[in-house]
Amino acid sequence: CADQAMYSAKKTGRNNFCFFNRQMLELAHQRMQLGNDLHDALGKGQLEVFYQPIIDVVSGRVVKAEALLRWRHPEWGMVPPDRFIPIAEETDLIQEIGAWVFREAADTVKRWNALSANQGQRQISVNMSPRQFTRGRGEQIIINYMQAYGLDPAHIAVEITEGLLLDNCPGVTQKLEKLRAAGIEISLDDFGTGYSAMAYLKRFNIDYLKIDQSFVRDLETDPGDRAIAEAIVVMAHRLGLKVIAEGVETEGQYALLAEAGCEYVQGYLFAKPMPVEAFLAFVNADAQKPAVIEGPLA
Ligand code: C2E
Ligand code: MG
Ligand code: MG
Ligand code: MG
Repeated sequence: CADQAMYSAKKTGRNNFCFFNRQMLELAHQRMQLGNDLHDALGKGQLEVFYQPIIDVVSGRVVKAEALLRWRHPEWGMVPPDRFIPIAEETDLIQEIGAWVFREAADTVKRWNALSANQGQRQISVNMSPRQFTRGRGEQIIINYMQAYGLDPAHIAVEITEGLLLDNCPGVTQKLEKLRAAGIEISLDDFGTGYSAMAYLKRFNIDYLKIDQSFVRDLETDPGDRAIAEAIVVMAHRLGLKVIAEGVETEGQYALLAEAGCEYVQGYLFAKPMPVEAFLAFVNADAQKPAVIEGPLA
């Protein structure tokens, strides 16, 4: 990717090349510094897992949540995961960090379950980078921990991206099967944004498709996005998968997704990702609410 940038800068002329090169140096320097800091971030307690509620369209209740990593950098404040996860992947720190996120999520779902007797299908999903499968034994770490911790695997799901399924990495099929055999569900994240060489949907056993927020954003105004979202739901259902829509920000989007038959929704309309204590307060309040009789379709 860096090579590509260099190449296109070269093509546009000598001056551009120099300018671009300096920018790249700065970027590389910043990355290096972030990489160094990230090494100690876990030990220094700067990493934190936030949780974003996922709502069941039929009951209107919070039944799931996604674990989303945050880094409170002492100088730069909150560093978004899109900035530091790639660095963690390059340096293999992702193995250690990923295992830690999983332990945090397991602990949180246990606390969520302890809040009330009505545990239903509560589940927290954890994002896993391809590297955690291809270069580490991420699946085994999870299974071992679940068993040692005595947590029902139904309460945990793993989010992966298309890239992992397309790479044709040896062993990936078996690793995913191992997770499912252990009772852990699998979500395919950001669906529709990759190469969408959908043949893999037949080969891999997956439980949920997550419609990427890029299709949800203009759902109310763009007939093309609406067609895509509806088609994803139909296809998923025909394949026996359930659908979670990401990035739902308006009532209108919610109504359209519910109408299309989407099972779960997640987005700022309901709640932003939040620290664990706020999340537990949120789900506790949600459980006290009377059952929804009129859904978005009524
Ligand atoms: P993702 O897994 O697709 O997560 C959804 C992203 O959408 C999150 O961004 C979330 O905050 C954001 N989001 C949710 N609802 C809305 C909405 O209504 N509007 C808008 N504009 N955004 C919304 P976030 O937390 O910045 O995470 C970015 C990405 O970083 C994640 O995308 C995931 O790929 C990665 N990531 C986060 N935590 C982890 C982790 O623990 N491990 C790994 N490997 N990747 C992680
Ligand atoms: Mg995700
Ligand atoms: Mg996503
Ligand atoms: Mg994403």
